[in-house]
Amino acid sequence: MNAPFWLKQFSFRILDFFLPRLCLFCGGVVAEEAKAAVCPDCEGGIQWVESPVCTCCGLVFPTREGEDRPCGPCQTDPPPFARARAAAVYEGPVAESVKRFKFERQMAYLPVLQHWLRRPRCLELVAAADLLIPVPLHRRRLQQRGFNQALLLARAFPDAAVGLETLVRVRHTPPQVGLNPKERRDNVHRAFAVPRPDEVKGKNILLVDDLYTTGATVRECARVLRRAGAKGVEVLTVARVKHE
Ligand SMILES: [Zn+2]
Ligand SMILES: [Zn+2]
Repeated sequence: MNAPFWLKQFSFRILDFFLPRLCLFCGGVVAEEAKAAVCPDCEGGIQWVESPVCTCCGLVFPTREGEDRPCGPCQTDPPPFARARAAAVYEGPVAESVKRFKFERQMAYLPVLQHWLRRPRCLELVAAADLLIPVPLHRRRLQQRGFNQALLLARAFPDAAVGLETLVRVRHTPPQVGLNPKERRDNVHRAFAVPRPDEVKGKNILLVDDLYTTGATVRECARVLRRAGAKGVEVLTVARVKHE
């Protein structure tokens, strides 16, 4: 059927109005007033990032006792960012959402991911930033995928300033998946640039991405941003791998 765009939009709205909202993970009915298409049971199973975590890289310590403190690797080799924080541990519905959204282009997962990104501990980092910068994709990857997941996630904060081409990816690199930490670092080395350093000079930057794995990518981004004159860099992701 070749209905005009406005009519399609209108029909979807009507459908939205009459169909009950279903949980994306179990298919159960979600309450009308819920902020995202996830039911309380499924959301209740998520492991949120809670203290004790590494004060720097945000690593969730396997032992649930003690205060936030720097982890071993951050003490011996401090990253060029001050703090990296994630909303949740990368497993269960969170891992499923990240994969379906990024690799299968299922846009229905975006509002859920954005909703998780607005948890109080994450909002703290957004409030402390002058400029949000989504981790950029190389133009070739952008063409393959059709969208930059990090940019769409940064749209969770409509009041925040977002730098679109402030940080660019100048080198096409193979995906980080399947590489060891050393290979990951080498892979992203010299992959980023700040074409107009004035846009970051003296500013507190918050890098936004979907997933923190070894931190190799955001480390390299932060290094380049600091060198371009950024005052400080922090990192916010929806998810973080459990522990290395
Ligand atoms: Zn559910
Ligand atoms: Zn750490």
